[in-house]
Amino acid sequence: MSQDTSNSRKEQNAPKLRNIIRMEERKRIVLIAHDNRKPELLAWAKWNKKLLSKHELFGTGTTGGIISKELGLDVHLFKSGPLGGDQQVGSRISDGEIDLMIFFWDPMSAQPHDVDVKALLRLAVVYNIPVACNRSSADFMISSPLLQEEYDRKIDDYAAVLLEP
Ligand code: PGA
Repeated sequence: MSQDTSNSRKEQNAPKLRNIIRMEERKRIVLIAHDNRKPELLAWAKWNKKLLSKHELFGTGTTGGIISKELGLDVHLFKSGPLGGDQQVGSRISDGEIDLMIFFWDPMSAQPHDVDVKALLRLAVVYNIPVACNRSSADFMISSPLLQEEYDRKIDDYAAVLLEP
């Protein structure tokens, strides 16, 4: 009887668990919004100021500056998104230095840095970062009990797949 090997190839190609990144109780949260979505993010952040203040906040230049000024919270600022800020955030994610991303991107306007936006969203998936791209997702994320707990974020070993002949 011939053996069905169709699954074994799939199993070989499936990403293997490589790494676990411990997310501490105090999360490192990055806040980003495209211009048309900044008012919505600001309103959301104001509503959730008390919860956000318990965590370490980051932001792309303009978004982070607005949040910091309006809420009176410390926000580590990257460059403005179109000037490299999105790429800086992606770099931090790949170094395991960002735990959560709230990114209200604009679904109705073309962005000059569209490729950077796409790259950032891709890295967030690669590194298994929770991402909220609209207000209801952000509401669910911020009200999750996991936000206040340690959490082991599992990173797949994509390198094994990429090296496959
Ligand atoms: P900004 O960047 O906060 O500097 O406006 C947002 C973005 O990534 O487009």
